Amino acid sequence: MAEITIVYDRCEAVDCAECVEVCPMEIFTIKGDQITIQNRDQCSLCEVCVDVCPNEAIKVIEE
Ligand code: SF4
Ligand code: SF4
Repeated sequence: MAEITIVYDRCEAVDCAECVEVCPMEIFTIKGDQITIQNRDQCSLCEVCVDVCPNEAIKVIEE
């Protein structure tokens, strides 16, 4: 299981949404004006989201 964290202070949310676009497991979704994390048990730990985030706002750790 992955522990996925978004540092919301650094997240541009709907103005960015890069993580929503790239995650192959559709872990990130847009809810209102914020990015939310769902189905983290399906995360493959690929870290594409970490690489694509322009603000280093995502942390993925294997639990
Ligand atoms: S890629 Fe980073 S800055 Fe962009 S929406 Fe996702 S967490 Fe926020
Ligand atoms: S590590 Fe890969 S599968 Fe997990 S949330 Fe990030 S992009 Fe999605």
